[in-house]
Amino acid sequence: MTHSAHNMSQFDAVVVGAGAAGLFYGARAGELGLRVLVVDHAAKPAEKVRISGGGRCNFTNRHTRPENFISGNPHFAKSALARFTPQDFIDRLARHNIGWHEKALGQLFCDGRSGAIIDMLTGELAQSGGTLRLGTTIDDVARTENGFCLNTSGGIVNCDRLVIASGGLSIPKMGASGFAYDVARQFGHTVIDPRPALVPFVFEGRDKVDFAAISGLSCPVQARNDRAAFDEAMLFTHRGLSGPAILQISSYWAERETITLDLLSGLEAATALKNFKSDHPKKSLASALETLLPNRLVGLLTERGDIPEMPRLADMSHAGIESVVTGLSNWTIKPAGTEGWRTAEVTAGGIDTDGLSSATMESRIVPGLYFIGECVDVTGWLGGYNFQWAWASASAAARAG
Ligand SMILES: Cc1cc2nc3c(=O)[nH]c(=O)nc-3n(C[C@H](O)[C@H](O)[C@H](O)COP(=O)(O)OP(=O)(O)OC[C@H]3O[C@@H](n4cnc5c(N)ncnc54)[C@H](O)[C@@H]3O)c2cc1C
Repeated sequence: MTHSAHNMSQFDAVVVGAGAAGLFYGARAGELGLRVLVVDHAAKPAEKVRISGGGRCNFTNRHTRPENFISGNPHFAKSALARFTPQDFIDRLARHNIGWHEKALGQLFCDGRSGAIIDMLTGELAQSGGTLRLGTTIDDVARTENGFCLNTSGGIVNCDRLVIASGGLSIPKMGASGFAYDVARQFGHTVIDPRPALVPFVFEGRDKVDFAAISGLSCPVQARNDRAAFDEAMLFTHRGLSGPAILQISSYWAERETITLDLLSGLEAATALKNFKSDHPKKSLASALETLLPNRLVGLLTERGDIPEMPRLADMSHAGIESVVTGLSNWTIKPAGTEGWRTAEVTAGGIDTDGLSSATMESRIVPGLYFIGECVDVTGWLGGYNFQWAWASASAAARAG
């Protein structure tokens, strides 16, 4: 054996990425008796957990179903999700005395700071005998006779299993990299074009100016296209549109497409307007609409000509009222683009699931190579689903032994 061979370290599993998925895998594999090393080029682990959910980490969603995930293969996530449920994660939090509460739509958040989850993840990794090496870059990865060899800034590392958990491209400022895609391609996997998802829309020209004029205003809408529909809040921003409804539909949006917004979502608007007309025939359409929508939005819609100037409702027929309601229920917008990787909460696309086992996340091409978490072409809705995928895919890979 050469001198350098003596210095090599050997692990049963090396995990690249100390984020949600990588740390969770490390602890689970360690508990099953594997000698695990988790490496990350960042100085701190799980930074996205820290900033998630406004600092309180929306760690799962009670209503998780396969339908809440976007993937080239809608069946792929089923097995892992069925075998590691939101309740499984809740039970783990209980063991660590981490309090949580439910917000709207089944979203579960920590009572305190999300750092409690990071402490749980790193604590469990250490407890299971795993090693965490931060600030470590990986120059290259090669296959060996029995596994893999990684050339890292901390020396050569050999392992039987290589688990790629380095996430997607969202928020480059936080250390996101295309490492997972590079490794996947190197070993013959297909990568479905990664694209920013759960991301605000930006607009140009008149729309940009108009939306900026009421930036900060939020209202409930239904945002939809022919693939999905979301009933949540929308927020006008100085660059365009954001808020949960917009972030959700952005994951289903492709360049140059339009989005339809129902601004009167959930309201019996036609009836309300007709009643208002009979009670206040001398009032304007705008004042009637102000009983249903924020005043500034009504002002903007009138200015844009999206609703007619109608000083006296008495002059408006019921058919006219219905046509206004139809227009506001089908308000069509055409984003110029999205805010991109800078603010996208997740990456849609990624490692093609056709090349992976849905039971274990193991490569079908290279035995011993695994991909888990956000780098895989499985993208959750807003609301805790992306972390649930991180936990579930990590746990599926760890169970592979
Ligand atoms: C602002 C924001 C808020 C969010 N809020 C929520 C939420 O409340 N609920 C929810 O479910 N999801 C949320 N998400 C999404 C969620 O954070 C991710 O889906 C999840 O973190 C993915 O986990 P992961 O382990 O696959 O990847 P990550 O958590 O991104 O971890 C990847 C790790 O790999 C490391 N890495 C990357 N490249 C390399 C490399 N070349 N070499 C070494 N290490 C590398 C990174 O430093 C990082 O530590 C949010 C995302 C953002 C950006």
